[in-house]
Amino acid sequence: MTEKMHQQDFSKTIRLYYDDSEMKEFTAVVVSCTPLGEEFLVELDRTAFFAEGGGQEGDRGELRICGCSGDENAAGTRCGGPIAVSNTTEKAGIIYHHVSEFIAPGTQVEGAIDWELRYDRMQQHSAEHIVSGLVHKLYGFDNVGFRLTDEKTTLDFNGVLTAGDVTRIERLSNEAIWKNVPFNTLFPTKEEEASIEYRSKISIEGQVRLVEVPGYDLCACCAPHVKSSAQIGVIKIVDMANYKGGVRLTIKCGGRAVKDYDMALASLQELGEELSVPREELGTRVSKLKDELAAAEYEVQRWQAEYLAKCSGENIAGVSLCIVPPVSGDVVRRFVNETAPGSGIAKAVFFGNDTDGYGYVIGSDSGDLRALARSIGESLNGRGGGKDNMIQGTVKASAAQIREFFVNRSEK
Ligand SMILES: [Zn+2]
Repeated sequence: MTEKMHQQDFSKTIRLYYDDSEMKEFTAVVVSCTPLGEEFLVELDRTAFFAEGGGQEGDRGELRICGCSGDENAAGTRCGGPIAVSNTTEKAGIIYHHVSEFIAPGTQVEGAIDWELRYDRMQQHSAEHIVSGLVHKLYGFDNVGFRLTDEKTTLDFNGVLTAGDVTRIERLSNEAIWKNVPFNTLFPTKEEEASIEYRSKISIEGQVRLVEVPGYDLCACCAPHVKSSAQIGVIKIVDMANYKGGVRLTIKCGGRAVKDYDMALASLQELGEELSVPREELGTRVSKLKDELAAAEYEVQRWQAEYLAKCSGENIAGVSLCIVPPVSGDVVRRFVNETAPGSGIAKAVFFGNDTDGYGYVIGSDSGDLRALARSIGESLNGRGGGKDNMIQGTVKASAAQIREFFVNRSEK
């Protein structure tokens, strides 16, 4: 198998990252420059920029025009600072650099890729090969969808994994990093390729490029990768979700994993300080707090029920009216449910204060309370409803206005 082939045999733009994935700067000549909307698409004879493809976004960076001295060179291209490359795309083997200004064909340029961005992507993508290779090897599932953006890296598999499987995959992936396994690039001949088993095998006309991580993976891929696994640093599988009959794993690797760890650690430390316990004890502390809160709520409701039971109510023409400070709506409903039936009177409890308004529950054995709910709504700026024997709602009115409403009602 030939380790390197002359790339022009299978792609129109020479891809410098095939030979050296760590090339940050290079020189090239502009072949064409085509306007497209607000942008210009610059074709170079060779490039280290990776074009959007296979789930990974295109490289960004800049192009600088070499060797010009005046304001405008002979070809009509302006001289000056670097020209930003906002994206890199590919069509029919030609790689296009998206820029905001015209660069005349024949111009010699220096290209510089945004290395921090590219290295981060190489860490995520190279990790994907190790994880997918392991999933394939151990469980037989294929990676059927890969998406790498600035925010997220997701891997879709066509089979279901358990949480235990994921822990195992993550551990073995990190062992691959510790072993510092090389990432090899292979360009097999057609005959060789036919006899090799590898992931993402599809029949294509041109040269197949294989990325090999010995002992872990062999996969067709055209993206730049790290030279050896130690450069990935760390692999964390941060999420697993059911997806189209299989699972979607979200990974964070290298610098992204470290940032994520920093964030998680800061949150845990903040929580730990807030609750005055070391972070190992946070779980126990939180369950204890939840129990304590439930007990306190129970106790509060018990006192509220006792308080309501003591409210004798003002009898205004067949309605026993209680106006009380804020209490739990559940407590009021229970109170009305228990006391209204058989009392021969409608029990009305308004709970709240004059500033925020009042909630209410009214229960009765007889009569159509829904008409009363409508009338309360109209007169006391409220809303509510319910059944013939039980209505509830809220009003935006004062205690005095509520009382006045019932007094006026009785005089009609
Ligand atoms: Zn790949």
